[in-house]
Amino acid sequence: RNFAGDLQISKVNKWYPGDVHAVKDMDMEIKRGEFIVFVGPSGCGKTTLLRMIAGLESISSGEVIMDGRTVNQVPPKNRDIAMVFQNYALYPNMKVKDNIAFPLKMQHIGKTEREKRVAEVAQKLELDALLERKQGALSGGQRQRVALARAMIRKPGLFLMDEPLANLDAKLRTEMRREIITLQRELGVTTIYVTHDQTEAMTMGTRIAVISGGVLQQFGTPQEIYRNPANLFVAGFIGSPNMNVWDTELISNNGQHYLTLGNARIPMGKSGLDARGLQGPIKAGIRPEHIVPAAPDDPHAVRMKISILENTGREAAVFLTGADIPDMTMVTGADFSGRAGQEVYIRLKPEKILLFNTE
Ligand code: ADP
Ligand code: MG
Repeated sequence: RNFAGDLQISKVNKWYPGDVHAVKDMDMEIKRGEFIVFVGPSGCGKTTLLRMIAGLESISSGEVIMDGRTVNQVPPKNRDIAMVFQNYALYPNMKVKDNIAFPLKMQHIGKTEREKRVAEVAQKLELDALLERKQGALSGGQRQRVALARAMIRKPGLFLMDEPLANLDAKLRTEMRREIITLQRELGVTTIYVTHDQTEAMTMGTRIAVISGGVLQQFGTPQEIYRNPANLFVAGFIGSPNMNVWDTELISNNGQHYLTLGNARIPMGKSGLDARGLQGPIKAGIRPEHIVPAAPDDPHAVRMKISILENTGREAAVFLTGADIPDMTMVTGADFSGRAGQEVYIRLKPEKILLFNTE
């Protein structure tokens, strides 16, 4: 390897013609061996950033630094990277083994070494039985595995993947997700994986970069981002769909903080709220899994009415309306026994409530 694995992205910007500011002041430090996921909605600049790291796209300003060396002017083939895209291109008339070996051939590596490396990588990706086939005879998942094998065989210092599983069906996607994670761990190659799918981000990344509108919103471990989202965008994008968000007010009384939610007052305890300088009109959010059924005599129970109940057998999503309290969604165990139209008592776990300044 000529790249050990430390990657730094420093104040990187990309303008496309027509004043499109696709990537804005991007700053990131990635350590050797990390599995980094770039996640964000379509058009947020993920591919552009990845292509700048690869050297396939010019950098308008800022620097991409590999092992401490600025590589802005280094052509892709000298960056020690391998890439896998959504629309992987295999050579249709070549056998699988020749497709996989192709990058080695380009490097003028001898036949014996090539065959050894193909056997190695084919075993890792369970492609042994397919080596003599042509790519036309392969399923979508097998093709994607061949594309991975071909990218890996050069033993790159940096592995870049742009939505590599987007064209596969859900079951295969889950399988390949696990294979990629296992493979990356085994090889210890610094990896950047681009996706718009927050489940892939949460399950694959050692750290996740959440991007929106070309701007890095938050960079952290999945747990950090789930527990302490930097802003409402991140809170809504990562974790649960049906995030509950309200305009509300934080009021203090004898050192105790309360949130007002319609007629209800939710006690917030004392933890750290003063330090964050939050007061007055704010936005409050709570994930639906942090709203729970409560006993009617629970002093903090809130009475609501079930409007819709969706029970998947694994969990129940309960859409709630209230007379003097905003609507909310609760996700609870599948054994939840309520019915649409019924009244129900619920409780918000105060330590799970997320507070944001109104922007
Ligand atoms: P993502 O991969 O997150 O979907 P992209 O990096 O492809 O986002 O695109 C980011 C923004 O840059 C979008 O607004 C897109 O339309 C624009 N863009 C991407 N490629 C080009 C290009 N070659 N010329 C002009 N605009 C582009
Ligand atoms: Mg893209």
